[in-house]
Amino acid sequence: MKYARLLHEGRERYGLIEGDHIHLISGTPFEEKGERTGETLPYSNAHLLYPAPFSKAVCIGLNYRDHAEEFGLPIPDSPVVFLKPSTAAASPGEPIIYPAMCHRLDYEAELAVVIGRKAKDVSEEDALEYVLGYTITNDVTARDLQPKNGQWTIAKGFDTFMPLGPYISDEVDGSALMITSRVNGETKQMSNTSNLIFSIPYLISYISHVMTLLPGDIISTGTPGGISGMKRGDTVEIEIEGLGILRNTIS
Ligand code: MG
Repeated sequence: MKYARLLHEGRERYGLIEGDHIHLISGTPFEEKGERTGETLPYSNAHLLYPAPFSKAVCIGLNYRDHAEEFGLPIPDSPVVFLKPSTAAASPGEPIIYPAMCHRLDYEAELAVVIGRKAKDVSEEDALEYVLGYTITNDVTARDLQPKNGQWTIAKGFDTFMPLGPYISDEVDGSALMITSRVNGETKQMSNTSNLIFSIPYLISYISHVMTLLPGDIISTGTPGGISGMKRGDTVEIEIEGLGILRNTIS
């Protein structure tokens, strides 16, 4: 199933994407499964919103070997974890705002895990049962601000620094997906989620032993090597096999 969240006749709705249409549902895909209402609209006409309103986005740093190496950092022996605030979320097509205090703004293509039901102290074996599906995110980073602060909250926490979408799919295997980023059509990153240092089940289990994961929460699994800067007016696209393309411009 592919789930979208959209603005329809002034209201926030959820729908199922089938072919080139969205079938609206009555509720949300989280916990209580919504029923089809019979309303449909063409996918190409839909005003998509970021698909998972989250209480927290738990992001993993340095989870691809080549990304750690491009910073000259050792491969971590436990996950590097930071949070993004819910106010960082941005929808597909929504501009990413280049902050005035930032002088180097980077994209980071990442596979995002969307939690489907409350998860606390779950085992690695059971972890995938708590996943609704997967989507794409861009872990936008004010790179010049990152080393100035002992934590990464400032560098990664600005409004619009977490575009998500275009939809959630449970039809893919998150452990082996091609992941690519492009700026103005030029390929910048190309890897596969099979290169993750810490696997998705491991991350869900590890994080759920620290904080309860709630429906809609995001685990962003880290970015591969090849990061670089963007400027105002650039278009950044992240494509993940089976999950479409997340496209935003910088303003
Ligand atoms: Mg990242």
